[in-house]
Amino acid sequence: MDANIRKISTTALKNISSQNGDITPSNYMKEYCKAAKEYQFDDKECAYFQKTLAKISKDEIENSNIEKINSIYDLIDLLLQRAPNLNIQKMSEILQTSLQPSISLTIDKDLQSFCIKIGDSPSLIFEDSIQQEMEKFLEKRFEVDKKVVAQKTADIARLISLMNKYLTDAIDSSKNGSDNVTSIKDKIKGIDINNSNKAELNKLQSKLVEAAINIENEMQSVNKNLRTGQEEVEALEKKVQQLEKELKKTKQQNMLDFLTGTLNRRAYEKELHKFENLFVRENQDYAIIFFDIDHFKKLNDAHGHECGDVVLKTFATLLLTLTRDTDIVGRFGGEEFIVALHYHETMELEKYISRIKSVITNNKFIYQDLKLKVTFSAGVQLRSKNQSTEETINNADKLLYKAKETGRNKIVFWNGREL
Ligand code: GH3
Ligand code: MG
Ligand code: MG
Repeated sequence: MDANIRKISTTALKNISSQNGDITPSNYMKEYCKAAKEYQFDDKECAYFQKTLAKISKDEIENSNIEKINSIYDLIDLLLQRAPNLNIQKMSEILQTSLQPSISLTIDKDLQSFCIKIGDSPSLIFEDSIQQEMEKFLEKRFEVDKKVVAQKTADIARLISLMNKYLTDAIDSSKNGSDNVTSIKDKIKGIDINNSNKAELNKLQSKLVEAAINIENEMQSVNKNLRTGQEEVEALEKKVQQLEKELKKTKQQNMLDFLTGTLNRRAYEKELHKFENLFVRENQDYAIIFFDIDHFKKLNDAHGHECGDVVLKTFATLLLTLTRDTDIVGRFGGEEFIVALHYHETMELEKYISRIKSVITNNKFIYQDLKLKVTFSAGVQLRSKNQSTEETINNADKLLYKAKETGRNKIVFWNGREL
């Protein structure tokens, strides 16, 4: 409405000047009413104008006392003399409003007293000094609003960055997430928004706090679930570890001969396969030694099967003790054992078997109060002298048989040498 009055007044003055007409009250009124119609403006103002004009005598209108009116201000001056209640009051109000910062809530004391001043005497708005003052207030208004916009933007940016931090923290933290969230929530609550458009920012602030509370609650339940989940996982982990241990033990047990603790047939065949692979790929030779306890049946017969078992176990333990971990000791069956050895020099094999013979024959096998002497026979064959693992085993067995045949307590080597 106020903008319309300004527009209509400007149009009216422009039209008068384009017609080279004088700005007389009647000309002005004519053009004013025409423009008001053009802008489809409520003609109340026009009617008011006419009524006011009517108060001025015809003579005066026809320029008897008054010189030409050069500006709208002159006109208003004239009108003021006749109609002090003309909308100047309203105009001054519009001016006052336009000087007030629209965003900032702080009330400038100078502006306040200035507004009171022109509110009391609206006609002051036409004075040069007052107009200069108004310009200053306008400038100030823009400055203040600019500052508030900057402040407001900074507040929102701060809120957003806090929300961002909050979300990042919430995602990052699993156990102490809730504590972090609470502190961020407090920070959001504590933001000073004094200099901002309070209503708007308060709304935003409470929305953010509400969001923080919601996420906090969610975090708490997530943490609870995580904790429960963690406990379950830990319990399951323990169970798995236990099962793994048992499985390993069972696997080992499955590989070992229950009485002697040496590898059973399946296990040593598997290990022999590895020896064979190394022989084929890297030409790493190995020896197969067949051991058989002499006259074991007699021992069983004389002292019982249980005694036989003890002797068997002791014999195996000695074999295992005297053999490197990287070599193989297996129970071939009954009182027969098979050993596979890696070697570089054949001397190593001789040393090994001599040591075994020495230890076994010198050992006293103890069963209850018995101290028994045990001998064994053996055949030593080299993989490199044979076509396959099987052939090596067979030929080692043959050498053992030869040792038995020729007196027992004897070791026969691949080259016919005996020990
Ligand atoms: P040789 O000197 O010719 O080898 O005679 P030997 O008596 O040792 O051989 P033989 O093959 O005639 O007898 C082997 C005996 O070993 C027969 C069997 O009862 C016994 N034997 C086999 N396995 C076990 C076992 O696990 N425990 C016991 N106590 N005896 C066993
Ligand atoms: Mg035998
Ligand atoms: Mg035997």
